[in-house]
Amino acid sequence: MSRIAYVNGRYVQHADAAIHIEDRGFQFADGVYEVCEVRGGLIVDLTRHLDRLERSLGELRMRSPMSREALKIVIREVLRRNRVRNGLFYLQVTRGVARRDHFFPSEDTSPTITITAKSVDPTPMLRKYESGIKVITVPENRWDRVDIKTVGLLPNVLVKQQAKEAGAQDAVFIDTNGNVKEAASSNVWIVTREGVLVTRPAEHGILRGITRTTLLDVAAHLGVGFEEREFTVEEMIAAREVFLTSATGSCVPIVEVDGRPVANGHPGSVSAKLRGAFLDVAEKTTI
Ligand code: PMP
Repeated sequence: MSRIAYVNGRYVQHADAAIHIEDRGFQFADGVYEVCEVRGGLIVDLTRHLDRLERSLGELRMRSPMSREALKIVIREVLRRNRVRNGLFYLQVTRGVARRDHFFPSEDTSPTITITAKSVDPTPMLRKYESGIKVITVPENRWDRVDIKTVGLLPNVLVKQQAKEAGAQDAVFIDTNGNVKEAASSNVWIVTREGVLVTRPAEHGILRGITRTTLLDVAAHLGVGFEEREFTVEEMIAAREVFLTSATGSCVPIVEVDGRPVANGHPGSVSAKLRGAFLDVAEKTTI
């Protein structure tokens, strides 16, 4: 029997079910989901699952793709079309399809909804009930591995949107010690009053930006003194210059932090100089 999936209003062959490549679920993990058990032809705890779905959507300020009643009809239809008596359905809602940009897309962007269902043989689970299982312990690191360039960018998306709504263009993450980490999609640098370039060591809770690494080469090339060390928010606000680096923006000056001007509130000369020499130092490969 062929499996059927529900994708944005259509029941399609599971093998043909697809979403757009710029779906925000795919690009940013900007989505929520539920998995619900089906046992003996009955959906287990549906109300609680739909309550949690609504809560998750609300927390991310995402629109529900349809009313709860409509959703129940579609869920039942997917289960029916897949003849599931024992198994599960999986439901995912994302913020929809939009040109890739961390900021939330325009209000009229339709959320994406997909629902799949499958039968599950209960025997392995019954065996686990009998034998029990083994586990290992691991440090809680689910939001810690920012050193890996994963598509799990939902926290970055949320702070970038928060920045926009506060009249800013980006957000800078601060660690529990009050030290600057990085911005939502770039690394942060300061130029101290003494003219020293400072950026956080890439070993400690940031992505090792390629532009960051090349900019250190640029600084060496230009004879600009630099230090890789942690620095506080206060140091950032008191700095002569603050700027961001990323592959798409090389070296972007920051002129205001939390409503307070950096130096005289204008882009500084060191970042301009580094930006100017950037392409001389960076690797350039012909297309
Ligand atoms: N930090 C984060 C969180 C990023 O997403 C990025 C990439 N946009 C960077 C830093 C900068 O990395 P790169 O210089 O390699 O673009």
